[in-house]
Amino acid sequence: MGLRCVADLLLHAPSRYRRTHPWQSLSRVAAAAAKGAAEGMEVRGEIASVQRGFGRTPKVEVVLEDDSGDIDLVFFNQPWVQRKLHPGMRIIATGKPRTYRDRVQIANPEWRRIDDDAPLQPPVLDEQSASICPVYPASEEVPSDHIADLIDSILDEAVALLEDHLPASFRASHGFPELATAYRYLHRPDLDEHIDAARRRLAFDELLLLQLGVMMKRFHRRTHLHAPALDRSSEVQARIAARIPFAPTAAQTRVIDEIGADLAENVPMNRLLQGDVGSGKTVVALAAMLQAVAHGRQAALIAPTELLAEQHARTLGSLLTDASVRLELLTGSISGAARRSLLDAVAAGDVDIVVGTHAVLTQDVTFQELAVAVTDEQHRFGVHQRASLRSKAADDSRCPHQLVMTATPIPRTLSLTIFGDLDISIIDEMPPGRAPISTIAVGRSGAAAAYEGIATAVRRGERAYVVVPVIEESTAGLTDLESHLETLADGPLRHCRLAAMHGRLDVAAREAIMDQFRRGDVDVLVATTVIEVGVDVPEATVMVIEDADRFGLAQLHQLRGRVGRGERPGHCVLIAEPTTDEGSRRIAAMVETTDGFRIAERDLEIRGPGELFGSRQSGMPPFRIAALPGDLELLALARRDAIAWIEQDPLLTLPEHALLRRRLLKAHGRWLGLGDVG
Ligand code: ADP
Ligand code: MG
Repeated sequence: MGLRCVADLLLHAPSRYRRTHPWQSLSRVAAAAAKGAAEGMEVRGEIASVQRGFGRTPKVEVVLEDDSGDIDLVFFNQPWVQRKLHPGMRIIATGKPRTYRDRVQIANPEWRRIDDDAPLQPPVLDEQSASICPVYPASEEVPSDHIADLIDSILDEAVALLEDHLPASFRASHGFPELATAYRYLHRPDLDEHIDAARRRLAFDELLLLQLGVMMKRFHRRTHLHAPALDRSSEVQARIAARIPFAPTAAQTRVIDEIGADLAENVPMNRLLQGDVGSGKTVVALAAMLQAVAHGRQAALIAPTELLAEQHARTLGSLLTDASVRLELLTGSISGAARRSLLDAVAAGDVDIVVGTHAVLTQDVTFQELAVAVTDEQHRFGVHQRASLRSKAADDSRCPHQLVMTATPIPRTLSLTIFGDLDISIIDEMPPGRAPISTIAVGRSGAAAAYEGIATAVRRGERAYVVVPVIEESTAGLTDLESHLETLADGPLRHCRLAAMHGRLDVAAREAIMDQFRRGDVDVLVATTVIEVGVDVPEATVMVIEDADRFGLAQLHQLRGRVGRGERPGHCVLIAEPTTDEGSRRIAAMVETTDGFRIAERDLEIRGPGELFGSRQSGMPPFRIAALPGDLELLALARRDAIAWIEQDPLLTLPEHALLRRRLLKAHGRWLGLGDVG
């Protein structure tokens, strides 16, 4: 489980705490419940019967008996319990008993099996008080109790060695326990207050270290790094405006101004541009890049995939038709002499704008003087693996202005955390004349009508997408691309021209299929989520998503953004019979709104921020204790403290901050790139 040493054990926080209660006979439990004063209790008994209950929520009803009587155990939403529990089996169950329709029952008890001949008569009936036991994240081979024993055996010696990185006066002013005490409370609490005190202190520590890291980086950027100041004369502005073939929306104008003002400074810009799918971020990126080009400097646009880089190059290329701007696409598929001469041209400064993927631009390319780097993240959040692009003439303190674009808004509540060093611009308005998208959710029985809808749309000359969760038949019983394509081609879509589109096709094959679809030689793309980003075919009006509950909410929203990009209204049909609560909530959110900001909030509610800001995406190590948005107040406190701290000792070089600095660099130095901070 990655627990290799004493420190790992110490840091392994309980996922929750179990209260152990004195074991009670069933008749005493019944008596306590009848008095209405029942606390959590532990019972043991033999299972007399196991039945599936009726009602809207699936439930399993179990009768448990001992020599003194019987009670009911009711398991809601845990149908598998029916397979695990059998009459004659003996178990320990804990939970809070209550009286329900003249019976005593415990709803959703915790339980575990004991020997079939284990005694069922409590040995002593004294009223010893409940004690608190930590329950650890565990695996089948390494159960929680085993981890608890190990931690118990090292705890006293380990905490005795712990040095606290927070000064005593700081702890006192915040009412925090000492670090050693916090860990003792975390693993061995005697009182509920101990758990709270430990959590507060340790969660604060995590949030503080993160904020210190972010603020240290911000300080470094603002004082040590320099970018070219690209001032925005009215002549430059006019030349940029001439390249935008439509009247920008008020929101586009506002963000272009915000970015333009940043670029005019010699402090490197670090800005996040949020705007829903189709809100028109491309021309904003173009405006930023042209501001560099107007000053004879270079700009780069970094796309998440080759497909998207090609698409961007095509779009920008047509916006720049007849302009004296040299734009080049640089992908992995350009090789040999062509590649070498392209790289030379970029290094010589002959190419003004380079479009490519992250890998290509960071590994192979040296710019003469890169002034503006735009990263199109789509809905990823890799904002901290920010491009480190090379400039030829650059000394270490030269740094391009950075603009990161994303279609997934960051809920305001979270923009303080790992995005604490970013300034944020928001496009909160759609270009005019955008056709609305209607979304409906249907069960399997609605599939026939959905495909009939596609057939009708194709007869009108429109195009459609069918999205499936997997390519090949899988054990999970999901709709797979291969067999679904056959089913559609032989059935409801037999009069349409179908093509498959998925990630296992190579780039050239994908591009060829996309071309056919764009031209209208293919009517319906049966695809996996590869089409979620960047595909822009205005004639596509219908999207049917199979097993829609299996996709993430942000992903569904991105997928839906592929239709309704032209003048005809878009339709999205979600086919799903959700088996989980989360799945149902995702579907409900999609039907409820097309507003990306609302979707992002729902996503946060449903998934929690841990998932949303998973370490995989940001590179940030996951919090062990802190939880957002629950700990928002602590986060605000940590942020305030971190700002004050960094103001006073920007690089934490004072001797009394040495330990804090060491722990900070260990936790965040690498992914935040604090190495160059010293
Ligand atoms: P995204 O934010 O998803 O990258 P795009 O930049 O691709 O959005 O813009 C989506 C479509 O809207 C494009 O076809 C673009 O030309 C068009 N568009 C963008 N801004 C406007 C505007 N102000 N008026 C009209 N059409 C616009
Ligand atoms: Mg885009």
